[in-house]
Amino acid sequence: MPLTVAIVGRPNVGKSTLFNRLVGRRQALVHPTPGVTRDRREGEAALLGLSFKAIDTAGLDDERGDTLTGRMQAQTGRAIDEADLLLMLVDARAGVTPLDSHFADALRRSAKPVVLAANKCEGGAGAAGLIEAYRLGLGEPVPISAEHGEGLSALFDAIAPHAEAPEAEDTQAGEGALNLAIVGRPNVGKSTLVNRLLGEERVLTGPEPGVTRDAVWVEWSWRGREIRLIDTAGLRRRARVSEKLERLTAADTENAIRFAHVAVLLIDGVEGLEKNDLTIARQIAEEGRAMVLAVNKWDAVGDRGGRLGEIRDRLERSLPQIRGIPVRTLSGLTGRGVERLLPTVFEIFEIWNARVDTGPLNRWLAGTVDRHPPPIVGGRRLRLRYMTQIKSRPPTFALFTSRPSVMPESYLRYLVNGLRDDLGLSGVPIRIVLRKGRNPYVEGARS
Ligand code: GDP
Ligand code: GDP
Repeated sequence: MPLTVAIVGRPNVGKSTLFNRLVGRRQALVHPTPGVTRDRREGEAALLGLSFKAIDTAGLDDERGDTLTGRMQAQTGRAIDEADLLLMLVDARAGVTPLDSHFADALRRSAKPVVLAANKCEGGAGAAGLIEAYRLGLGEPVPISAEHGEGLSALFDAIAPHAEAPEAEDTQAGEGALNLAIVGRPNVGKSTLVNRLLGEERVLTGPEPGVTRDAVWVEWSWRGREIRLIDTAGLRRRARVSEKLERLTAADTENAIRFAHVAVLLIDGVEGLEKNDLTIARQIAEEGRAMVLAVNKWDAVGDRGGRLGEIRDRLERSLPQIRGIPVRTLSGLTGRGVERLLPTVFEIFEIWNARVDTGPLNRWLAGTVDRHPPPIVGGRRLRLRYMTQIKSRPPTFALFTSRPSVMPESYLRYLVNGLRDDLGLSGVPIRIVLRKGRNPYVEGARS
């Protein structure tokens, strides 16, 4: 039985837009629902290889003269009955409205699991609404833009666990399965490395039952941990045969990065770190993924010390926003060094998943601000009031300040570097979302 997901929320939050994005041309089953003015839309949704049945509840609450609450209840009532999972949308630009709270209450009272998504987050415009959405008590809101197709991998992360067979979930230790992508320019040795990894380590379980008929990953377990290696362009087909991996298109690389928790950027050690490698590295950083730089063909490198130094230097200079990316040298051909790759992948995965408690975080903030106070802008010193981690994967913090708009980049960089060095968040992207005002979690403190 495929998972059924109902997209619910008050009018205009973007339910239909999201439905269209997820279902697209696969919208097969439009049928009228008795007692409802508009046809209700259902369809086979696809989200990064995860397929499920989606129900669009938009229009079910059309102007029928009932009270708003009544219409809302009819709509959510149906959705709650039929769905396995409720995907509630709010409009992050509009913020949380009383009607959103009504919806949230109704959903919370149901026994069904809820994923909360804050829509219209493109361009950072929804930052305030995103934080407000925590107040709905439905867990961590997933920032998305249905219209621009942003945040879909995070949405995948939130929905995927509900689609998995329960037995599979039980066997997942710690943070659950790790989605791994091996990306890099053509000919750096991706196929060779994948073959080596799967050949030696794999216990192939094939396409995940209950998730999708057309799985996009190869799943295997390594020291008791589940790994899903993203199937880009025929990887799976090739996993059994030793034919060459089809050429990856830029879109394949992009999809693989979005899907991945950790991306291994494979480069050719003989050629060194090149411009095109850095382009992919930046893409990984922008998507907020954890990264390991794997320097391949090490067997064929002459001056190893010099080459490694060169690569590290170039990496630090070109990606100053993520200092401390782990670098591993290896040879997919001989297998040398390959055994150290997965331990490194899991180490960086842990950091990417890290949670810093609010108490220590604010003590750290106070000390950091003391050591190097924020600048004076327009005659007044910028005040940093409070910091809290709003999500992990990657670590993302909300910083409450008197005047977010005048916060200089250089000071933000100082804070990010401090978080990295002092709180052990080395080698992963770190995000700080600026928020005007005081601590929002203290009653009456909103400004
Ligand atoms: P519904 O009533 O919940 O189904 O909402 P719709 O999908 O009809 O969207 C309502 C309005 O929000 C439309 O004008 C959409 O174009 C707009 N919208 C939907 N998603 C986004 C988004 O991600 N960003 C922005 N800026 N607008 C969006
Ligand atoms: P892909 O295009 O990234 O998948 O690269 P392939 O795995 O097809 O490898 C491209 C070429 O590099 C092939 O000729 C491989 O034999 C060679 N190659 C791959 N890994 C290594 C390695 O560790 N050392 C050496 N010397 N050659 C390698």
